[in-house]
Amino acid sequence: MARSEFLTSVSRYFDRAASHSGVTPGLLRQIKACNAVYRMRFPVREDNGEITVVEAFRAEHSYHRLPTKGGIRLSRHVDLDETIALAALMSYKCAIVGVPFGGAKGGIALDPSKISDGFRERVVRRYTAELIRKNFIGPDIDVPAPDYGTGEREMAWIADTYKNLRMNEPNPYACVTGKPVAMQGIPGRRQATGLGVFYGIRIFCEEAEAMRRLGLEPGLAGKRVIVQGLGNVGYHVASFLQRDGGSVIVGIAEREGYLHAEDGLDVEAVVRHRAETGTLEGFPRAVFSTDRATALEGDCDILVPAALENQITGENAPRIQAKIVAEAANGPVDSVGEEILRERGICMLPDIYLNAGGVTVSYFEWLKNRAGVSFERLLSRHEELTKSQLVQTIEQLVGQSVPEPLRTPLLHGPSEERMVVTALEQTMIVSFGQIHELWKSEQLPDLRTAAYLLSIGRLAESYSQHGIFP
Ligand code: NAD
Repeated sequence: MARSEFLTSVSRYFDRAASHSGVTPGLLRQIKACNAVYRMRFPVREDNGEITVVEAFRAEHSYHRLPTKGGIRLSRHVDLDETIALAALMSYKCAIVGVPFGGAKGGIALDPSKISDGFRERVVRRYTAELIRKNFIGPDIDVPAPDYGTGEREMAWIADTYKNLRMNEPNPYACVTGKPVAMQGIPGRRQATGLGVFYGIRIFCEEAEAMRRLGLEPGLAGKRVIVQGLGNVGYHVASFLQRDGGSVIVGIAEREGYLHAEDGLDVEAVVRHRAETGTLEGFPRAVFSTDRATALEGDCDILVPAALENQITGENAPRIQAKIVAEAANGPVDSVGEEILRERGICMLPDIYLNAGGVTVSYFEWLKNRAGVSFERLLSRHEELTKSQLVQTIEQLVGQSVPEPLRTPLLHGPSEERMVVTALEQTMIVSFGQIHELWKSEQLPDLRTAAYLLSIGRLAESYSQHGIFP
């Protein structure tokens, strides 16, 4: 399937929601348009001395708020349309979770599984230098983060390159988020997207009426789940669903195939097995098939596509058996597939809400970098003192002391990770409430349309407040 199908799908989702919005056509055109794209080709030396010309992109979709923000993807599928589609999703996503950034996205057209670490580092550092050259990166300009095929290590290379080429920048590490904690990252960012997806699914599954309509019991416990993609997002979703939700992970798909076990897979054990052997194959008491596509069509309550876009299309949508498709990846359901799933009564939890946990926690990391101080240092001692005063007052009133084993954990101030996690949970709860409310009050066809409509309303409001530069 042509990649531009992804951009077409995003455009259709936008137009459908826009028709409910009452925003003027001109402003809608501006909200939808991608404002700037930098397409580059640069030479990088291979390990054997040969030169490879690498193609890469950075799209800045919307400047209604600055900086712009969005991940950097390493994938052989990367192209201009894909990067623009992903940048647009970032604008809508930020608006939904109240992150005051415009949307952006970067892509490097290389297969991450086929390059050496040394070559990878040279590519990422050169890409960063190219972004600096054209003013497409900076704490107040455009702030990348991890995405498919990249992680903390790549973000560290970006931060280091930026710091060395921008010696006068007061907060150079605020130029990128998703960094290692030791390099001014924030605890909780690594699992943030997956944890946000987990919260989103949990919140939806607590909706008794919605679950009744799907023929499911409320709650996550015992729900049968299939996850596609055991990378950063997919692994954390699977792990939280199993450990904290009590769900049963009946299937996991990766590049090499599909692993299935009716009575459930131990996610941590599967990850260990794959790290040791390089494949899902051979995992004990489970059935392995090289036909990874069958995973999407497997019998389950919740299907979590957490790999790439365009996975559910007009071709396979009629065979999807899940009752809920939880869009952990960006754009996993194309607009033709979506129509079919909706007609079949399958509920989709839309990507622009569900996977917004990553950018939410990236925002916290950026704030921390800008402030030059951790949240823990600012707040923890204050919380300890407040709690201590409260406990002492209660002790005086009841004439009894709290026993020591209970006292210490009670008085402890929150760790930075705890603050991040609770703020993320609150964000997911509040945003779902707003989307759900809009869905009901406007009698919209689905949660995706409601999420887009919420976003369009906020972007329109932002443009109205700030005006448009003449
Ligand atoms: P990742 O590179 O860590 O993991 C992706 C995994 O999917 C890899 O292990 C890869 O081998 C696997 N995969 C690729 N094709 C597959 C296929 N056809 N079937 C099964 N598995 C396949 O990437 P990630 O960061 O987990 O991102 C996954 C998705 O989540 C992407 O759509 C990304 O845009 C989206 N997302 C990521 C973040 C983030 O913070 N990393 C935030 C928001 C959205």
